[in-house]
Amino acid sequence: MRSDKNCIFCRIVAGEIPSTKVFEDDSVLAFMDISPLTPGHLLVVPKEHFETIADMDPQLFGRLASTVCILAKATNRSLKPDGLNILQLNGKAGNQVVPHVHMHLVPRWNEDGLTI
Ligand code: C5P
Repeated sequence: MRSDKNCIFCRIVAGEIPSTKVFEDDSVLAFMDISPLTPGHLLVVPKEHFETIADMDPQLFGRLASTVCILAKATNRSLKPDGLNILQLNGKAGNQVVPHVHMHLVPRWNEDGLTI
């Protein structure tokens, strides 16, 4: 499995940097965003290091997306938001800050003031 010792998400996957994990299996990890846009903001990442979605095997991306779907249901049940944004950014020009594929799951509330 590819890992990059300079990648912050690889280091979270390896347990070298603490995170609040909400789901884990053999290929995917979900944890709370350290700087949440709204309460319940999660990140879902492949455990293996891929910079962008275009570097991934489509089957593995399917597992990532399935996990997002399951966590969206869990978020709706537990936090009862008015809406939910799923975001996935690729490349500097696409505003990706951490170059390890991740999907944001951002619960939204009416008039939460967020503009994304
Ligand atoms: O999609 P983008 O690359 O811009 O987002 C990176 C996300 O990773 C940010 O929401 C940031 O808060 C989060 N992050 C984190 N834990 C870290 C470093 C960044 O949750 N240690």
